[in-house]
Amino acid sequence: MSAAPTPAPAPARQRVWPAISTDTRFFWDGVAEGELRVQQCNECATLIHPPSPACGACTSLDLGYQVASGEGTVYSWVVFRHPLAPPFTEPYAVAVIELDTGTRLVSQLLDIPLDEIEIGLPVSVRFVEVEPGLTLPLFGPRAA
Ligand code: ZN
Repeated sequence: MSAAPTPAPAPARQRVWPAISTDTRFFWDGVAEGELRVQQCNECATLIHPPSPACGACTSLDLGYQVASGEGTVYSWVVFRHPLAPPFTEPYAVAVIELDTGTRLVSQLLDIPLDEIEIGLPVSVRFVEVEPGLTLPLFGPRAA
């Protein structure tokens, strides 16, 4: 009896993948559909990010979401230079993005020279498959 063929190894994940829960599934379902969804309280309309099981403003558990335009500005940012962990091999920027449609979120900046990043820089979302099976909402320069 011959040995079973060795299965091909699963591709190595280099990034930390998001933990998807019942509270965050709507967000990742939106990413899969090319939508940037921001949780919103159905009682008081407060925008909530990152997603939460309850509204921090009114404690309601009745939560939905709005689809953000995906456009915003750099509110703050940092450049990671050292130590770089896989998959990053060069310095990269992570920013707090102030969305035009309300609230802020943290994301990586793409296609912007690190020395040209500044507070108020207009950016827009792009959905990037950063490794097989993992698409992230990342931000780059806003089209003119
Ligand atoms: Zn509320």
